[in-house]
Amino acid sequence: MALILSGRELAREVTDSIRTRLAGAPVPGLAVILAGDDPASSVYVASKEKACHRVGIRSTVVRLSGLTDEASILSRIRPLNDDPSVHGILCQLPLPLGIDRHTVASAVHPAKDVDGFHPENVGKLWRGQNGLFPCTPLGVMGLLRRNGITLEGRHAVVLGRSDIVGKPMAAMLMMADCTVTVAHSRTNDLPSLCRTADILVTAVGRPGMVRGDWLKPGAVVVDVGINRLPDGSLAGDVCFSEAEAVAAAITPVPGGIGPLTIAYLLLNTVNAMEQLTR
Ligand code: NAP
Repeated sequence: MALILSGRELAREVTDSIRTRLAGAPVPGLAVILAGDDPASSVYVASKEKACHRVGIRSTVVRLSGLTDEASILSRIRPLNDDPSVHGILCQLPLPLGIDRHTVASAVHPAKDVDGFHPENVGKLWRGQNGLFPCTPLGVMGLLRRNGITLEGRHAVVLGRSDIVGKPMAAMLMMADCTVTVAHSRTNDLPSLCRTADILVTAVGRPGMVRGDWLKPGAVVVDVGINRLPDGSLAGDVCFSEAEAVAAAITPVPGGIGPLTIAYLLLNTVNAMEQLTR
């Protein structure tokens, strides 16, 4: 049976360490721009606010209508960039139709870009420089390290090439000396490719797509996918019951990577404050 890689414990450790760091320190500020009334986005933003409150980060939510245009969003970002009490800024995705997320990401000051989407931070990630990087892949790296998983020289396959998960994940694994292959919806023969992975990270959004016979025995499987099933339950991209019999280690869904994303958002905010107030 595979070792279960719990994200909940690491998330708790990360938030405890933030609380310790913030004892007697100035209060960091996180500003979240929420445009529109997408129910999932509202839930995510509420969870972020709650998590901020628990560790002593002041969070402000700028709520805008779903009819907001790009110019209005940009005009709300500018004062936040200049506000010394705000150390982190994020624009909750998805943005309303017609708004270019790259333009919005580029408008956030790179030193306050706690989602790690600004081109300056993307470039720093690929160049191996310090910067603010996307929270979900940071969580994956934290979980692999915490569990003593060897990365150097191992073949990592990343399923998915999004800007939020797949691409930064590939960059981080490469910087950690893995040999990385990135796969996507046009990749031929995914099962054979996956069977060559020592470390498989899935960020696809297709429940149960990765079957047990897609895995190399002893592989480490990190399932980033969070998919809502018709009965309301959550499932990952990996068929967990089959995979846990083959893998050496595997993340569950829920309770794997999910809890780490917010924990690393808090960490990015505290790191941003420390850099900005140096
Ligand atoms: P996304 O932007 O939709 O990207 C999905 C990627 O999967 C794309 O690169 C796509 O390929 C690829 N793909 C889709 N169908 C495929 C198939 N049949 N075979 C191979 N590749 C396929 O999604 P995302 O934002 O990266 O999120 C991915 C999953 O992670 C979702 O379930 C999401 O809910 C979850 N997620 C979880 C967290 C967390 O906190 N744990 C955070 C973010 C996302 P193409 O590029 O060719 O279209």
